[in-house]
Amino acid sequence: MNLFEKEELIRQAAEDFEFQGPEVLLSWAVERFPNITLACSFGAEDVVLVDMLQKISPKTDIFYLDTNVHFQETYETRDRLQQHYGVEFVQVLPKLTLEEQAQQFGEELWKNAPNQCCNIRKVDPLTDILKNYDAWITGIRRDQAPTRANSKKVEYDVKFGLVKFNPLAGWTSEDVWNYIRSNNIIYNPLHDRNYPSIGCEHCTRPVAVGEDPRAGRWAGFEKTECGLHK
Ligand code: SF4
Repeated sequence: MNLFEKEELIRQAAEDFEFQGPEVLLSWAVERFPNITLACSFGAEDVVLVDMLQKISPKTDIFYLDTNVHFQETYETRDRLQQHYGVEFVQVLPKLTLEEQAQQFGEELWKNAPNQCCNIRKVDPLTDILKNYDAWITGIRRDQAPTRANSKKVEYDVKFGLVKFNPLAGWTSEDVWNYIRSNNIIYNPLHDRNYPSIGCEHCTRPVAVGEDPRAGRWAGFEKTECGLHK
C-alpha cells in the first residue's frame, strides 16, 4: 500500500469509527494491522485498553516506557496486571541509565531540562520501539488537554511514521471510570490519592480540588506533554 492509499484508508476509517465504541475499533485495528502494539503507562485509560485487548486479541504486544523513575505504585500495578492477565509487558528502557544521564547532563535533569530528560527517557526509546510496528494504540482522550482536542480515532502519526489508533478519543474520564468499575479492573492506587494523571515520580504531584487534571504534571514548567503525542 502506498502512502496515498494508506492516508485514504485512515481517513475513511476515522470517519467510519467516529461513532463506534472502542472495542469495535480495536477489533478492526488488530485485524487490519496485525503488526500493532499498545503503549501502556498503567494509567486509567491504559488499563481499560489492556483489558479490552486481552478480550479481543491477547497476543498483541503491549509495551511500557520504563524511565526508571516511575512511582513504586506504578510498578506494582504493572506486576498485578501481568499476573492477572498472564501476560508480560515489553519493557522499553532508555539508552542511558540514570547514572550515565547524570554524568553526561548533570544531576536531576528533570529539574533543569525536563524536555531533554523526556527526550532521553521517553521519546527516543519510543521512536526506537515503534520502528518495529505498522501501527500503535494509545489511551489519549480529546478532553484531557487542548493539545489532544483534535485527535482522531485513527490518524497517521507523522512524527513516528506509522498508523495511530486512539480508541478512547471520544470518551470522558467518567466513561473510563465506569468501565474500570463495572469490569472490576486493576488500576493504579495513586488515582485514589488525587493523581488523575500519573507520570514519573519526580514530575507528578497530586492535584487540588478544581485544578486541571493534568496540572500535576511538570508543575512549575510550561511543559504539558512528554513529546509522545503531537
Ligand atoms: S517525566 Fe520527568 S523524569 Fe520522566 S522523563 Fe520526563 S522529565 Fe524525565
